[in-house]
Amino acid sequence: MSIYLDYNASAPIDERVLDYMVDVYKNHIGNADSRTHIFGEDTRGIVENARKQVASLLGVNSDEVFFTSGATESNNIALQGLREYAIESGKNHIVTTSIEHKAVIETVKHLERGGFDVDFVSPDLSGRVMEEDILKKVTDRTLVVSVMHVNNETGMIQPVMEIGEKLCKRGILFHVDATQSCGKLVEELKTLKYNMLSFSAHKLMGPQGVGVLILRKKSYKLPPVKAIMYGGQQEHGIRPGTIPVALVAGCGKACELAATDYRVNNEQAQQIKEGLLSILSRSGVSYHINGDQTYCVPGTLNICIDGVSSEALMISTKQFCGISNGSACTSRSYSPSYVLLAMGIPNNQIENSVRISWGRGVKKEEVFNNFQSLLDMAKQMKQ
Ligand code: PMP
Repeated sequence: MSIYLDYNASAPIDERVLDYMVDVYKNHIGNADSRTHIFGEDTRGIVENARKQVASLLGVNSDEVFFTSGATESNNIALQGLREYAIESGKNHIVTTSIEHKAVIETVKHLERGGFDVDFVSPDLSGRVMEEDILKKVTDRTLVVSVMHVNNETGMIQPVMEIGEKLCKRGILFHVDATQSCGKLVEELKTLKYNMLSFSAHKLMGPQGVGVLILRKKSYKLPPVKAIMYGGQQEHGIRPGTIPVALVAGCGKACELAATDYRVNNEQAQQIKEGLLSILSRSGVSYHINGDQTYCVPGTLNICIDGVSSEALMISTKQFCGISNGSACTSRSYSPSYVLLAMGIPNNQIENSVRISWGRGVKKEEVFNNFQSLLDMAKQMKQ
């Protein structure tokens, strides 16, 4: 039986979330923006409850939560939505990193083609960008700095706490892609200083197809982010279109559950990591771990198995585990991971690197047994 170990690509939906969503689909049928009947009132109540659940997980106010279709859209709105302000303020410089998800990289490249200046800061071999390298790039012309909280390929936690603190003092807009940390690094996110923050519900065991953009108010004013689509006043015009009530409800429920369960989830994920590392060290295979584990989240391991192609390994082991070698958004055809490349890892090691990611619901013994089988296969393939 194949075990799913690709939670960073998408985590399975929590049954409690699904049950709630099914109830909403079956029994709550109105458009949340309909004002002419009680069906609209009813679904509006569900949406506003979900907004409170998200706000409570992140320690923000409900009127700072905007529902979108996912982190990709949230990132696009946060960055492209600043165009008008860039013209007004004469600021057209963006600082980001070369290890962001494509939803940020492609968006800022699009802005670059439209006349913006973009600086991409790279990490070192540890997989982390340096706070100083980011801040060094910031000038009077800087419109926004965008840095992800946790990298999806390596699990490396980026120094957003420190960067946010400094940028806040300088009054520079800060956007954080928290897709891989939301519901996991709960306390950090509550104290993090930022103006815009994005995430997708499916990474914290909510449904696919819904996400959030947080816009933090300063002196009662939202950051100068404008809509990038037109067609309605939903979500205060930031994200027009009929609100998908059941998806939003599922997103809220996933946040509520993460708020109560995250400590236990993190502990269990850490136990699995320790088990995997111990199996690996006893296995006799020669390997490297990509990224400095001091800064890695508990649910991710990116390893290079010397002499074993990741593509060949994934094909040979797909009957007993589902793992990956990069972001699902770029995995249609093989090209070496741009994240590992930016870290300065040599090409031959990148070709032999795989990402394993897990979370609530995986069975420890099953993970360990299947991982052992994967390593046995890797040993055979090397001979
Ligand atoms: N940012 C990060 C860090 C991610 O890991 C992902 C999903 N892989 C996204 C953005 C995009 O999320 P979605 O595809 O749900 O829009």
